[in-house]
Amino acid sequence: MRKLLCAGLILLAAGCKTVQTTQPGVVGVSREQSMLVSSATVNQSAERAYRQVTVEAARKGQLNPDPAQAARVRGVAQRLIAQTGAFRSDAPGWKWEVNLIGSRDLNAWCMPGGKIGVYSALIDELHLGDDELAAVIGHEIAHALREHGRERVSKAYAQGIGFAVVGTALGISSAAIDLSRVVLDVTYNLPNSRQDEQEADRIGVELAARAGFDPYAAIGLWQKMQARGGSRPPQFLSTHPSPETRLGDLKGYADLVAPLYRQARGAH
Ligand SMILES: [Zn+2]
Repeated sequence: MRKLLCAGLILLAAGCKTVQTTQPGVVGVSREQSMLVSSATVNQSAERAYRQVTVEAARKGQLNPDPAQAARVRGVAQRLIAQTGAFRSDAPGWKWEVNLIGSRDLNAWCMPGGKIGVYSALIDELHLGDDELAAVIGHEIAHALREHGRERVSKAYAQGIGFAVVGTALGISSAAIDLSRVVLDVTYNLPNSRQDEQEADRIGVELAARAGFDPYAAIGLWQKMQARGGSRPPQFLSTHPSPETRLGDLKGYADLVAPLYRQARGAH
């Protein structure tokens, strides 16, 4: 508890700052972001949240239930991770972890700091090829590179931390916020903004191309997602609001990075 209270006070002292989390890349993402919380604080909380999720999955026998499929997911993810240096030089050195989670939900995420979870139903039910799998994982990695989680935690703090800090000063311990719960909320419950989605689409497509995965596969992936709409829309889609222009946008991004793909494939 004391650690959390200290974190709150340090946050207040650090204040808000504007940062550029990533290099623009060929796809040209250059929006500056306002951050109220440090990467280190968010990543520590994400690590705790990730441990909770993986321990719970393991307890239910749902952590990497199919070794061959887990190896495939890790193989695709590692090729993408190897390209993250194009967007930020520190990212290849992150403590990346990749797990397959046995679940009937159509979902995938990458928590702040590089903790990746891909749900088995996403691969099985949508019959994803490696290029499509790379489109999913590339998109999720892009959210982490852009630190969208940190940005959203910052917004949550801007709205709620005032109470926690005041509460701390008054000795009201119940006002303390458990950041790892906020990270879990950001991962599972709170929908991303369309702006964040567009940035993740753009960077994800470029990561895939640089890693030698067909960048146009993102179009087929989202078409499969949309086809699963209707009465029971996939969780992955419902938390990723999809403007009608998304497929056209994806084709535009793929056209931009196609030369990187050809280069990576050794076909000039
Ligand atoms: Zn997304």
